[in-house]
Amino acid sequence: MAATLFIADLHLDGARPHIIERFIEFLRLQASGSNALYILGDLYEYWLGDDAPAAELQPTITALAALTGRGVPVYFIHGNRDFLIGHEFARQSGCRLLPDTAVIDLFGEPTLIMHGDTLCTDDTAYQSFRSKIRHPLTRRILLSLSANMRRGIASRLRGRSREATVGKRPEIMDVNAQAVEDAMTRHSVRRLIHGHTHRPAQHDLIIGNARATRYVLGDWYEQGSVLVCTPAGCELASLTD
Ligand code: MN
Repeated sequence: MAATLFIADLHLDGARPHIIERFIEFLRLQASGSNALYILGDLYEYWLGDDAPAAELQPTITALAALTGRGVPVYFIHGNRDFLIGHEFARQSGCRLLPDTAVIDLFGEPTLIMHGDTLCTDDTAYQSFRSKIRHPLTRRILLSLSANMRRGIASRLRGRSREATVGKRPEIMDVNAQAVEDAMTRHSVRRLIHGHTHRPAQHDLIIGNARATRYVLGDWYEQGSVLVCTPAGCELASLTD
C-alpha cells in the first residue's frame, strides 16, 4: 500500500545547493512511489513572484513537473516565506494550490493541514505583521514592483525576522495550545498536520474527551524530514545521507 507524504520548511535557497539536490532526489525516489505529496509551506526560503524565479530553483520546478507528470498529485499550501507562489508556478510545476487551511480525507480520517504560523497566536507582533503582508492588496502592490525592488524588500524582511526571533522567548514562537484545540474543534478533526515551528514531533492530545494527534513536520536545514502516512497511521521519518 503506497503512502501519502507530507513535507514543509525546506527553505530551498541557492545558498544551500545540497538541500536542493536532496529534494530533487526525494521527488525522484520516495515521492514517485507515493499516493500523493503535500507541501505545507516554506518550500522556498523566499519567493519573489512567479515572474521572477531564481535560476537556482528552476530544477525544483522541473522535478515537480516530472513527478506530477507521472500522475502523482502534489498539493501546495503557502508558508510565510513563499506566500507569493501563484498560478504560474502551479501551471509549470503541476502542483495544486490549496487554501491556507484544508481538511483532507487521509485514508478515511479527516485531517486538518496548514503551514502552522496561524497557530502561533502568542506571537502577536508576528500575527499583526502577517495580516498586513498577506493582505490581497499588499500582494498586488508587491507583485507590481520590479524584481530588484522585491528582492530588496525580501532581504530586509528576512533580516528583521532574524532580529525579532533573537529577542523572543522560545515558547512564544511555538503554537498556542488553545489555538490548536480551537482549530481542530472548528474543523471537527482529530488529526492535524503542520510545519513552521521546526519542532518535529507527534503530540498526543485529548480534545473534547477524544484522543487527537498533532504532527509537526521538521525542517530541511540539516536533513530531510517527512511524515509518512498509511492506513495504519503516520510516522515521522528523516532522510539522512
Ligand atoms: Mn514558516
